[in-house]
Amino acid sequence: MSMKDLTPTRRQLLSAIGTSAGSVAAMQAMVALGHAAESQFTGPPTLSGARKGETVLVLGAGLAGLVAAYELTKAGYKVQVLEFQGRPGGRNWSLRGGDTYTEVGGAVQKVQFQPGNYLNPGPWRIPHHHKTLLHYCREFGVALEPFIQMNHNSYVHQTDAFDGKPMRYKEVATDFKGHVAELLSKAINVGSLDDKVSGEDKERLLEAMRAWGALDKDMAYASSLKVSGQRGYDRAPGGGVEGAPTPSQISSLSDVLDSKVWNQMGFFFNYVMQTTMFQPVGGMDMIGKAFARHVDHLITYNAKVVQIDQSATGVAVTYQDTASGATATAKADWCVCCIPATILGQIPMQVNDAMKASLKAVNYSASVKTGLEFKRRFWEEDESIYGGHSFTNQPISLISYPNYHYFKSGPAVLLGSNAGGLGGSLLAGMEPAARLEAILAQGEIIHPQYRQEFMNGVSVAWARVPWNMGGNSRWSDDARKQHYQNMVAMDGRIVLAGEHASYIGGWMEGALTSSIDAITRLHQRAQEA
Ligand SMILES: Cc1cc2nc3c(=O)[nH]c(=O)nc-3n(C[C@H](O)[C@H](O)[C@H](O)COP(=O)(O)OP(=O)(O)OC[C@H]3O[C@@H](n4cnc5c(N)ncnc54)[C@H](O)[C@@H]3O)c2cc1C
Repeated sequence: MSMKDLTPTRRQLLSAIGTSAGSVAAMQAMVALGHAAESQFTGPPTLSGARKGETVLVLGAGLAGLVAAYELTKAGYKVQVLEFQGRPGGRNWSLRGGDTYTEVGGAVQKVQFQPGNYLNPGPWRIPHHHKTLLHYCREFGVALEPFIQMNHNSYVHQTDAFDGKPMRYKEVATDFKGHVAELLSKAINVGSLDDKVSGEDKERLLEAMRAWGALDKDMAYASSLKVSGQRGYDRAPGGGVEGAPTPSQISSLSDVLDSKVWNQMGFFFNYVMQTTMFQPVGGMDMIGKAFARHVDHLITYNAKVVQIDQSATGVAVTYQDTASGATATAKADWCVCCIPATILGQIPMQVNDAMKASLKAVNYSASVKTGLEFKRRFWEEDESIYGGHSFTNQPISLISYPNYHYFKSGPAVLLGSNAGGLGGSLLAGMEPAARLEAILAQGEIIHPQYRQEFMNGVSVAWARVPWNMGGNSRWSDDARKQHYQNMVAMDGRIVLAGEHASYIGGWMEGALTSSIDAITRLHQRAQEA
């Protein structure tokens, strides 16, 4: 046996460490070797040794509050959670048939979906590198299934491109790539890039463009069976005598530019949007429910926090019973406050002015998500679309197809809008019935089957969600520089946590990592006190 045989490969080394010392040690070793740097997660907190009888009040039972309650209880603290709503999870939420949702302004929507169908009004996708969230899913046995974003067969739609006709992603994306490859090849061949690219690299770049862009022998992007092998055929290949395929016709560069397909191509490049993504089987709220199985007995539901005070020795939080209106005060040694900044900024709280200012400094982006139930899966049956998104420049922004129960007959729910920005504000400004009508009118341009197959729908405009009033935090660079550290610094006996107190805003991972950091510092402070 040579020395080489005796030297373990990195993979063997990691596997040995993993077997002997568990996943946390393996993770730490991988980080040290330069792998897994895509997440700061190095394992769950290992807090222990809380002083006997020491108490913590956790405000808000979203994921930040739930993980705080779970880990602080394990560390030995006596925890009480105050939650505005009658359920755990916060934005980690799913709507099903029989649920009722009342938005700010008083409009009530009763969800009529068939059993098994649901809408995730908030979080819906989990990137593979959100390791903290994946850790707790594994620990609590939350079953995950793939969440598909990219579907070559879904549509790209611009109202002023291709006469308003939706195009298949694979057609316009292939054409965009092919035309760009041809143009770059031309620029190389007429010497435009001579001062930028060496002779040898020019040859290699030309070779790459020919393969990448499916160019012909003359370095032209033209209709052919080779190109149809990427963008699809007019007549698909078959078997036997009549099996020969017919190529499809490519679109012109100008038409493809009108489609702005690079927006979608760029979307899929995003680190947080890359494959593989997951969703919990049965609805996103499976995660909040899984946490609640461990800490539900600690949660006081329907308790709206209206004032937060502290002294040198403890905290006192006043809350209102949302049914009776009666107020009560809960006391503890410490407080982890996980209420979104939009709401917390309006609650009188005894903290320093810099922390208060930080709550006003972070913006929130509102979105409008809509679940539409149809009699059948026409997107699968008629159009061979299984999961993924179709994009449009209309306010709805996209249509997303369900990633569960493929091929099932009977009613199914798709996401009819994920509107943000101006489109989101427009839709949020409407009453639910008018909003639904606008969403159907926009969607039927992409799927003419809409009206005939539609059964019912429900929409959630996040600017109108009573316990959130915003959607997700969006820090500007300037605000982050000026205010972020003031938000996350512990003030006396109070520490803030939640997705807004993280660099992963708008993701559940941000809520968890923020909370773990906050309770770790709280524990240190408590041990020192
Ligand atoms: C439209 C949308 C899409 C999203 N998509 C994704 C996604 O695909 N993937 C992903 O990972 N994340 C996504 N997110 C982000 C994710 O939902 C959040 O980052 C995360 O759930 C926030 O958790 P949190 O605990 O910080 O806050 P929340 O979940 O908001 O928890 C705060 C809790 O405080 C309670 N509360 C509010 N006011 C009071 C009060 N006065 N008294 C007592 N309690 C109060 C609320 O009821 C709530 O339960 C999305 C969010 C939205 C809105």
